[in-house]
Amino acid sequence: MRTFGTYSFNGNKIITTSGGGVLIFGDKAMIDQSRFLATQARDDAPHYEHSHIGYNYRMSNITAGIGRGQLQVLDKHIALRRANNLRYQSIFKAYDFITVFKEPTADYFSNHWLSCILVNENSKGITRESLRLAMTEENIECRPLWKPMHQQPIFKHHPAYMNGTSDLLFEKGLCLPSGSNLTDEEINRIKTTLEKILKG
Ligand SMILES: *Cc1c(COP(=O)(O)O)cnc(C)c1O
Repeated sequence: MRTFGTYSFNGNKIITTSGGGVLIFGDKAMIDQSRFLATQARDDAPHYEHSHIGYNYRMSNITAGIGRGQLQVLDKHIALRRANNLRYQSIFKAYDFITVFKEPTADYFSNHWLSCILVNENSKGITRESLRLAMTEENIECRPLWKPMHQQPIFKHHPAYMNGTSDLLFEKGLCLPSGSNLTDEEINRIKTTLEKILKG
């Protein structure tokens, strides 16, 4: 089995090259083949000769330079995002109808790029959407989790194989402010606002 990994360096990620990303794997032949396809699939000839369809997916030297600089702040950014997650875990400890996504066991290490919660059924009638709207009212943007592919209008006539997990995550999931640049003051304002809303 060949195992590939992909990383996005889009602007909202822990480290960024403004756009683009990388593909990783351990097999040299596959690396060479991806480079070949990503750089227009040029055959070995002095002129442009193509026996395969290629793409222009290469990263420029400029973006690669930004990426090398970003690698130096990677550990710091991960520490900041993990600290955000810990703050949220402590804020929501008092509310049993809210689940904060966390590492399942001590064998896991999450970068906590994003801190998200599930808003489960509760006696106060608070839902994911009512919480999101109340936060928006206070000028704190929170977003629903990703809408599943099978719910996207463009795919509505395509077959889908589900067990309900993605629908549930979309219905109850909320992404909280999670940036590496959140200040203590901002986190405190988020905490106060959340508590005000959740106490009803
Ligand atoms: C960033 C991200 C994507 C999109 O990656 P792009 O490089 O922006 O196309 C898809 N899924 C998840 C979970 C992501 O975090």
